[in-house]
Amino acid sequence: MFCHPGIGLVDWSIFDSWKADVLKYFICCPICGSGHVAVHFSRAGRDTLTCDVCRGKWHIHVGLTGLHWAELDNEADGGRGKEFLGRRFDKEELQRMAQDARRTTKLRKMRMRKTSNARMSL
Ligand SMILES: [Zn+2]
Repeated sequence: MFCHPGIGLVDWSIFDSWKADVLKYFICCPICGSGHVAVHFSRAGRDTLTCDVCRGKWHIHVGLTGLHWAELDNEADGGRGKEFLGRRFDKEELQRMAQDARRTTKLRKMRMRKTSNARMSL
């Protein structure tokens, strides 16, 4: 058991259920679409989610039931995600952003594959 500043006395196992809940909405990085995201919980109550690929860092706010909202702490490499700074996003918005990012990444990959195929057939 430990004392979470926002919630009070909770069991350590709550971290596992929070993590599962956060990853339900952050199905991938909302900035670059990568699946390499990691959730970090801190006893001080400032919880974050980071992306290993673009290095974007989100401040996530969880309550007893899981994710409440998140806001971007640090923009990603090359200033990507700047448009997300200074705003709190609720979980439905985050999920939509992540889905969009994943779709864009997939399209880009498909386009790249098509270009290299075209080059090979020349
Ligand atoms: Zn990313």
